[in-house]
Amino acid sequence: MAEAIPLLPIGLSQADSDTPDPSRTAVRGARKKPPPHLADLDLAGRRAAVAALGQAGYRADQLSRHFFARLTDDPADMTDLPAQLRGELAAALLPPLLTAQRELDCDGGTTRKTLWRAFDGALVESVLMRYPERVTMCVSSQAGCGMACPFCATGQAGLTRNLSTAEIVAQVFAGARAMASGSVPGGAGRVSNVVFMGMGEPLANYASVLAAVRRITEPAPAGLGISQRSVTVSTVGLVPAIRRLAGEGLSVRLAVSLHAPDDELRDELVPVNRRWKVAEVLDAAWEYAAATGRRVSIEYAMIRDVNDHGWRADLLASLLAGRLAHVNLIPLNPTPGSRWTASDPAVAQDFQDRLADRGVPVTVRDTRGREIDGACGQLAATVRA
Ligand code: SF4
Repeated sequence: MAEAIPLLPIGLSQADSDTPDPSRTAVRGARKKPPPHLADLDLAGRRAAVAALGQAGYRADQLSRHFFARLTDDPADMTDLPAQLRGELAAALLPPLLTAQRELDCDGGTTRKTLWRAFDGALVESVLMRYPERVTMCVSSQAGCGMACPFCATGQAGLTRNLSTAEIVAQVFAGARAMASGSVPGGAGRVSNVVFMGMGEPLANYASVLAAVRRITEPAPAGLGISQRSVTVSTVGLVPAIRRLAGEGLSVRLAVSLHAPDDELRDELVPVNRRWKVAEVLDAAWEYAAATGRRVSIEYAMIRDVNDHGWRADLLASLLAGRLAHVNLIPLNPTPGSRWTASDPAVAQDFQDRLADRGVPVTVRDTRGREIDGACGQLAATVRA
């Protein structure tokens, strides 16, 4: 899938001192959880929550229809509910989760990036990208990220906390509502694709991400009804979680952020590689492909003189030849003061040609949103500064 913002931004030359520990993705210290929300729960859970408020279970279905089908969380719109009940149910199950802190757009308004502030001040970003044939929401799964990739703005700031299921769904909901309202140039429409390529390592927040995938893909009133095949979950290569995902019976696409075909370089660019090596990550990816029948996306940020050598293209081709895989080359989004920058176009073309010549499907990813700090973490970094 050649879409989505460049996940990989920036980069300051921070030493990647520690191998990130995926098991340490829990919140640092004791913090309050986000308020519980309808979108955290499946339909049965919502009915139980409504029953706990002393109301009939079918009220949960009504509330769900308003939220997931009519895309409203405003009690005033819920005219099929008794007036005195609307406010009570909305207060209990539809609390505001994310407040738009800043919104930037480009591409004539068809690319829209939002910086959200959560209840505890945590900042996350999402991007809506409208193309002629699809509308993609790129969402964050964590506030910050603990994976410490040295070229990434989000990685430099570390992990703040995992997002709740409803906080993830809220980003898609906001995009769906913007599309339905006709406020995005091109007329009213719907979000067709969701990519987990914003801030965070999705598989390090496994339970919330998996529930969010279900909420996003289940038909209304259970969820937003977006096709599973149009959802992409990315990972830097948390092998046990990839295997677990393969067993979930889903047909979402897996994207593996590889960025280097050799362990020596990948240990540096993607520090979690010190725990799970390239061969192990790819083995898990092929297991995923076999279990789901879905082609795996191999994400490869093109970083000048770092990972763009011809021999690395040849090595990558040898690892992927004959596999159910597709390579997305991503021109790195350079930022002021960074020692990492995008590959020379001629070098990038040669890299692409070497893969294509060996029969590996390869595209260069669209880099929408560059002029609005499109890469993950850049807008949050700006605001924090
Ligand atoms: S996993 Fe993604 S968000 Fe996290 S540090 Fe690496 S590139 Fe950045």
